[in-house]
Amino acid sequence: MKHYDIVVVGGGVVGLASAYGMAKRHAQIAVLDEADMAFRASCSNFGLVWFQGKGLGNPAYVHLLALSTNSWAHFARELRETSGIDPHYHQQGGLSLCVGEAAAERRRAHIEALRKQSGADGYRCEFLTRGELEQLFAPLRLSDEVRTASYCEADGHVNPLYLLLAMQKRFVDLGGHYHGGHTVRDIIPHSGGGFVLNTDRGYIGCDRLLLAAGLGVTELARKIGLEVPIRPERGQIIVTQRTKPLFPLPMNGFRQTQEGSILLGYSKEDVGLDDTTSVAVTARIANNALKAFPQLASLRVVRTWAGLRTQSLDSYPIYAASREWPGAYAVICHSGITLTAAHAEVIPEWVLNGNTHEFIREFGLERFRV
Ligand SMILES: Cc1cc2nc3c(=O)[nH]c(=O)nc-3n(C[C@H](O)[C@H](O)[C@H](O)COP(=O)(O)OP(=O)(O)OC[C@H]3O[C@@H](n4cnc5c(N)ncnc54)[C@H](O)[C@@H]3O)c2cc1C
Repeated sequence: MKHYDIVVVGGGVVGLASAYGMAKRHAQIAVLDEADMAFRASCSNFGLVWFQGKGLGNPAYVHLLALSTNSWAHFARELRETSGIDPHYHQQGGLSLCVGEAAAERRRAHIEALRKQSGADGYRCEFLTRGELEQLFAPLRLSDEVRTASYCEADGHVNPLYLLLAMQKRFVDLGGHYHGGHTVRDIIPHSGGGFVLNTDRGYIGCDRLLLAAGLGVTELARKIGLEVPIRPERGQIIVTQRTKPLFPLPMNGFRQTQEGSILLGYSKEDVGLDDTTSVAVTARIANNALKAFPQLASLRVVRTWAGLRTQSLDSYPIYAASREWPGAYAVICHSGITLTAAHAEVIPEWVLNGNTHEFIREFGLERFRV
């Protein structure tokens, strides 16, 4: 039976960011992932690395987002230079367009509330006028309905597939072991310490265990004495043909990839584990896009897809350590792309050295025990 210091179950962005960070600290570590056709939010997301507008009512989450978005440029540069794979990370700021006066009012009130919540820390977000937006987007025409947009310099975007590939390559270059097709069916904790994992390809042992298996966490976490409540949330995305550069910045719901495709998104649907697309929802996404940029109507749609987010009950991340079986940990989150840079630092310190960063303490399971 193979045995590792640490096994990470799940090869999505959360598992790989953690494993890559731990491999940099010289741990002997393996990542076990499922085969193709698994649910993988990391391969079906929108690719925004996003700060603005999130975390109203939860200042700790705003701090976590700030930590990650502030670290992303350094993280991406190091990853590109060491792996030789460019994750296409760009941080020139991002916009949230307001179509119609009511939307503009709602956005101003929302950002104002975040500003008040941030107090002396300040909140990095400003509003652009219609004239400023016209200049920014010219020659692309904005519909008359676009009133304003909030702008945040911390926002950016990345190609999630190159990000995954780069982290996986770097992890393996650092001596990590990546095992695809190793669905974990059971976990057997040992009373003397350590764990045995029953996988589709045989048994694997480890001293410490990190569950980062997205929608698979709840079932596996029960084996290590943790009850991790999650819900799937479907998001659908439209991809257009490649075109000349049209968008100077990524936006909530609009982003142009480095290759020229335009991504339009995204829905938030409570449909269980159904990751199929529907014409009704993609039609709504397309119509909303045209309400902001009528000229997009001339672009051909080349594909649509749907992915399932792993959401906790309050939509914030969960970082949990098992009291019953020391050495076992579980993580789930939405906005895992945005949080990648923070995860690559904070999770290794927690699992390897027992250093619980304030975020690990803030987003434990205790908050669900009422
Ligand atoms: C439509 C959509 C848009 C999004 N847009 C953004 C965005 O713009 N910005 C952002 O920051 N976030 C975005 N997200 C969220 C982001 O994609 C997720 O937070 C992130 O991918 C979660 O990563 P993960 O590694 O936890 O989960 P996953 O990517 O789901 O990875 C979990 C992995 O665990 C494996 N696994 C599961 N069970 C087992 C098992 N028993 N044994 C072995 N392996 C197992 C799976 O095969 C999978 O590879 C979006 C998500 C969706 C769906």
